[in-house]
Amino acid sequence: GLLIVAIDGPSGTGKSSVSKAVATALGIGYLDTGAMYRALTWWCVDRGIDLHDRSAVAREAQTFPLAMGTDPAAPTVQVGDRDIAAAIRTPSVSAAVSDVATNLGVREQLIRRQRELMARVAAETGGVVAEGRDITTVVAPDATVRILMTASEEARIARRAGELASTAAATRAQVVDRDRRDSAVASFMTAADGVVTVDTSHLDFDGSVKAVLAVVDE
Ligand code: C5P
Repeated sequence: GLLIVAIDGPSGTGKSSVSKAVATALGIGYLDTGAMYRALTWWCVDRGIDLHDRSAVAREAQTFPLAMGTDPAAPTVQVGDRDIAAAIRTPSVSAAVSDVATNLGVREQLIRRQRELMARVAAETGGVVAEGRDITTVVAPDATVRILMTASEEARIARRAGELASTAAATRAQVVDRDRRDSAVASFMTAADGVVTVDTSHLDFDGSVKAVLAVVDE
């Protein structure tokens, strides 16, 4: 059958880079669902749509011309023919994305699109690794393998600081603030029934990839 690997967890756990490496090792597709919330945020800001106008943003979620490239060796994010992979990582998008991700009309549409994408890429490659906040619980509760990737707040702050090259104090505030806002949508710090927790606090990148692959092999 098809191998569907669902990976959830907060930022700073190494979730994205580990998910990509796992998909590459397994020879299957990769879907970054957070990038879809970011892409919609970018699109609405670019079009001058007020992010607080919930029904307008939800309408865009249904129809905006998003194309997710699902090759784990070179994932892409495009709207129309525009490559927005870098644009969706800017601080302004990161600051605004919670307004979009907490919009339930948006979630309904993006979850539908995520399921369609996952089915398509899995049919093409034999499977998919999908990562986000609600993949194990909402998007794909029937996935072959379901993993919650965690890391201590300390480890996550250290990793974010490395990524952002900002001071530890500023990063701490960002991580704590993101957790607070994210928890409005998904209680991702506790694993749902049947979800395997992989704690990466004391694992490096290779160790994290091996730990996830070991769960897939079980
Ligand atoms: O993981 P990333 O930082 O790219 O996620 C961007 C935003 O989208 C975050 O606010 C996160 O909580 C949200 N998100 C979500 N559901 C997902 C993936 C991400 O609400 N499945």
